[in-house]
Amino acid sequence: MPEVFTGSFTQQEPIPEEGIAAALAVLRHGRLHRYNTAPGEIAEAALLEEEFAALTGAKYCLAVASGGSAMTTALRAAGVKPGDAVLSNGFTLAPVPGAIAAVGGRPVFVEVTEDLTIDLDDIAPKARASGAKVLLLSHMRGHLCDMDRLMAIARAEGLTVIEDCAHTMGATWRGVPSGRHGLMGCYSTQTYKHANSGEGGLLISDDARAMARAILLSGSYMLYARHRAAPPPEVFEGVRLDTPNISSRMDNLRAAILRPQLKTLAERVARWEVLYRTLETGLEHTPGLRLIRRPAEEHFVGSSFQFLLPNWTPEQIRALIARSAARGVEMKWFGAPEPVAFTSRYEHWRYADPAPLPRTDRVLAGLIDMRLPLTFSPADAAQIARILREEVLAVGQGAPLDLPAEVPLAD
Ligand SMILES: *Cc1c(COP(=O)(O)O)cnc(C)c1O
Repeated sequence: MPEVFTGSFTQQEPIPEEGIAAALAVLRHGRLHRYNTAPGEIAEAALLEEEFAALTGAKYCLAVASGGSAMTTALRAAGVKPGDAVLSNGFTLAPVPGAIAAVGGRPVFVEVTEDLTIDLDDIAPKARASGAKVLLLSHMRGHLCDMDRLMAIARAEGLTVIEDCAHTMGATWRGVPSGRHGLMGCYSTQTYKHANSGEGGLLISDDARAMARAILLSGSYMLYARHRAAPPPEVFEGVRLDTPNISSRMDNLRAAILRPQLKTLAERVARWEVLYRTLETGLEHTPGLRLIRRPAEEHFVGSSFQFLLPNWTPEQIRALIARSAARGVEMKWFGAPEPVAFTSRYEHWRYADPAPLPRTDRVLAGLIDMRLPLTFSPADAAQIARILREEVLAVGQGAPLDLPAEVPLAD
């Protein structure tokens, strides 16, 4: 019998006991709204912001309702107006172009490379052709481009950079935390990201005016002075009557759940790295399979794993996914013609009227993606690699592409 993996690719770790206790305390006193505080009390949301600012080294931080609302708030704070072109990666997740569309912007996609990062040489041409003044840079699946070169290009082209750090909370480029290069960094605390409050988002910046606008936009009413990781009141004076209140606040319950998770982020990033490297080592030198290069400057969070199957036919890739699924290894294919579950690609975002991206198409045609939840052990990662390697070799060496009848397909 071939070995079968029995772990769940969607099962995250439980909320730490400290977070459960803090959440219960909030439920017991009932002051869930961030501006509902007892005399002398500091809201959990305000404390979370202070702690996340300290963790990333940012001057200011704002907690919001989701990663998507972090991005829309940042785009508005950066001055994006209806009709404006906004650049983003051709390989990203649906909420990224969705955030651009939410503020009335026009997403313009930039090619991505075989390393799954934005094609630096395609930024200036796309900026010039579209007139875009903002780049919503998505560190999709945790892959960081050469941030030094990217920022040099952005400066030369007059582009404001907003970072989508949904997959890079805890990552650095040459020691600088992801989210600290551009005007603002946006994070998600949705269940599948690196801190889990079900839904939630965080926004960081060193720019006082942009952050004052972001706080007002997030729905602070005239209670912005209750924020602690925030610019001083006089900065708000200049913008408060010109900034709409677009409610997307985080509540104290979610903040209470998140605060203890920030304390263990570094430890969890280290565990993710072990899982990622175990899988990578197990798949090295597998004929037909190309691993993704990780530059030495990048300290990444291995919460998911990608590889390429260059020049494989769609039938071969489907067979590999089905055969692996039958052995308990769940993967997603970014080249599938129809969008499935979380996996869609730029040409499926028809509302954005995307122009073709031939280089990105070639990459996505063979791109396989897998989650690595921390409920997996290093032994699990090694087993997944063994199964995958066997199946890649089997399909690559011409195993029949239709599945044997007795093999059940995972749903
Ligand atoms: C999850 C995700 C987001 C948005 O986060 P939500 O909290 O789900 O709105 C943004 N970008 C990427 C790449 C993501 O994976």
